[in-house]
This record gives sequence, structure tokens and C-alpha cells, in this order.
Amino acid sequence: MGLAQRRVSRLSNNQEPTIPPPENVFPANLDVAELLASGWRPSAFRQFILKVHSRCDLACPGCYVYEMADQSWRTQPRQMSPAVVASTAFRIAEHARTHRLPDIDVILHGGEPLLAGPESLEHIVRTIRGACSEVGTRVRVSMQTNAVRLDETYLKLFHDLEIRVGVSLDGDAVAHDRTRVFANGRGSHERVSRALRLLEGPFHHLFAGLLCTIDLRNDPIATYRALLEFDPPSVDFLLPHGNWAAPPPWRDADSTATPYADWLIRIFDEWRETPRFRTEIRLFHEIIRLLSGGDSRSESVGLSPASMVVVETNGAIEQSDILKSAFEGASATGLHVLTAAFDDALGHPAIAARQLGVRALGPECRRCDLVNTCGGGLYAHRFRPATGFLGPSVYCPDLYRLISYIRERHARDTARLEGRV
Ligand code: SF4
Repeated sequence: MGLAQRRVSRLSNNQEPTIPPPENVFPANLDVAELLASGWRPSAFRQFILKVHSRCDLACPGCYVYEMADQSWRTQPRQMSPAVVASTAFRIAEHARTHRLPDIDVILHGGEPLLAGPESLEHIVRTIRGACSEVGTRVRVSMQTNAVRLDETYLKLFHDLEIRVGVSLDGDAVAHDRTRVFANGRGSHERVSRALRLLEGPFHHLFAGLLCTIDLRNDPIATYRALLEFDPPSVDFLLPHGNWAAPPPWRDADSTATPYADWLIRIFDEWRETPRFRTEIRLFHEIIRLLSGGDSRSESVGLSPASMVVVETNGAIEQSDILKSAFEGASATGLHVLTAAFDDALGHPAIAARQLGVRALGPECRRCDLVNTCGGGLYAHRFRPATGFLGPSVYCPDLYRLISYIRERHARDTARLEGRV
């Protein structure tokens, strides 16, 4: 059975495509003109996620791009055309000049970005840096990869081009190979480990960190220690995607149980008890920063305006691709780099909604004492067909429990360090 056929059968077996919400729910009903008249102004994009290849060499069940509600990958070209690359570079430089941005981030993403091949990746990076250098903007480039194809040839190129690499790893071989599998069902841990060994040596300066999707079947401490074996500078734990209409695995939407918080708290305690934190755990760092009155730099928590935008392989300007887990077309804006500026996207109701902070949340979240830290959680996890994206998150009990725990523990540790207890 071909990969595409296999993916169709998985979707039809496990998940009914979710119907888009009516036009009168948030954020489709948001009046951006009224917002602008009231004095609100959008924030410039600073993070450009480029879908440089639309296919993947793994076939992970539950992947939000291929296995969930939105199946638009089927109509995407495999790779960005030279015309789309040129227009994307022009639009990024145009946006940087308009908003006088001294630096921006470009993230090479997919599908699997390494499938684009070294020549294409070099062309994309040089074209964007060339366009942005003319407007005085520095471009930091990183990539998120499954690392199956990551080898010395790529790493030498990434060293020359200063591309940092984030790798998806879900734990030890048993944990990782539960889900990160090739189309024939074989696990990818061995190939990924081999690539990660290369990042431990002379290429360590290119290592951005590990991304681990939580699987409650895996022991949290064993998972955390397996990730640390590769000496990552940072680790990000991701909640599996889902929403109120299609809840994530082991998350009963109506239950007050907190299985994900309980899993993460075990890691938080282990991480916290390490004399010097060996690695940054992004979710914990962000929560502590927010509890201390800082801004969020992650879309998982907090109320900071979202500053990222996606360019699809065909040149379409889109919102976060995580929204593909909600319903067909959820991430679309109807704009394209050949015909629209990124400033046009800033006026799109769905993008404006992600820059409104607490004003984009429903009454439950607004009343919550943790709203400034939680921010309703990841936007895609708030989706409910009847009310759109007003929240709360389908992970609400987990988020409340995790943040409360970190708040108490952080306050206790800080008091002890300051000699107050
Ligand atoms: S999702 Fe839950 S924990 Fe988060 S702000 Fe909303 S009500 Fe509070």
C-alpha cells in the first residue's frame, strides 16, 4: 500500500474530518477595521516558517500535517518553485523594511525539510539573506527536522550557512519507535540517534535542541534522561494536538483528570533538582518567566502577540500549521506571496485574533487566576465548533495543574534561596 493510501485509511479509521465552524464565531466574526479604529495596532511578523518541502519520509500516526483534519498537503507541490522562493524573499525583506526590523528568524520546515536537498536549501537561504541584507536586516536561520537524512554533508553546509538544527526525538528507542516510523512500520530511532551523535561533536554549535511530543505510555523520567543523552541545549515538550471536537489521546474533554500535567511535573521535579540545569526546558522556562512578570516567547503559553507566519510550499501565506489539526482550511488566509504583502496578512481576522492577548479569550479564561501565564494555552487546542477559538484549551485542567505546581514550587525555592524560610 502506498504512503498516501495508508494515510487515507488512517484518517478514515481514526478521525472524521472536522467541519469548519460557522462564520459568526471567533475569529471569523472579528472586525479588524473596528479594532484599528479603536487604536489597536498589529505587531510585525518576526518569525517566518517556510514549508520548503511538503512531504515527509516518515509516516507517524497522529501527525497534524498528514493525519488530522486538514488534508491540503495532497494538493501542495513537493517543493518550493524558484518563483515562490524569490517572492518569499522579496516579501520578507519588504516586511523587514516596512517595520524596520533589525533581525528576523527564518525556520525551514516541512513536511521534512531535508527532502528539499542541499542545493535547494542553500538557494533558499542565500536568496532570503541577500534580499534582507539590502534592507539591513540580519536573518537567523534554523531548521526543524526528523534527522533521518541528516549527515555530515548537510552539517558542513549548515555550518557554512549558519543554520541551526532542531531535531524531533520522543525518547529512547522503544518510546520513539512507537510513533516515529517509516511507511513500512520500521522505527527511525537508530537513524535519528546516528545523526544526533554528529551533533554532539564538532557540529554541536549547530544544535538548537530537541522537540519531544508527549506520549503518556512512555515513562517521563526515562524519556527525559534519553533526551539528555544527546546533550541538547534545549528541550521542548509538546502536547499532542487536538481540540474539543477531536480530543488528544488520553485526554477526555469532560474530565478533570490531569494526566499530562502529572507526566510533566515528574520531569519538572527532576529538572529542578539538578544542581545546575543541564538543559533549558522551554515550557518550564516560559512558565517561570511569565510567573515572574516577563513576556512569553512561545505560542504554547502566555498572552504575547503571535509573531509567526507560514509560507506554504506553493507560496500561500498561512497561519500556524498546527491549526491543520482543527478543520480543513483552518490555517488558510487566502493570501499568496506572489500577490500579497505580509502586512495584508496582519489584517486578517484570524491573525489579528492571535495578537489581541486576553481580548481574544472567552469568559472562562478571562475569569481564571492563571490567565496571564496560561493565556488559554496553544491556540489550536481551544477549538470548539460552536464557539471557534475563544477557549479554554482542551488541556485546561492539565495547564491549570502544571502552572499552579510550578508557581508553588518556584515560590518555595526562591524563598529558600533568599533565606526567607
Ligand atoms: S485554559 Fe484553563 S487554565 Fe488556561 S487560562 Fe483558560 S481557564 Fe485558565
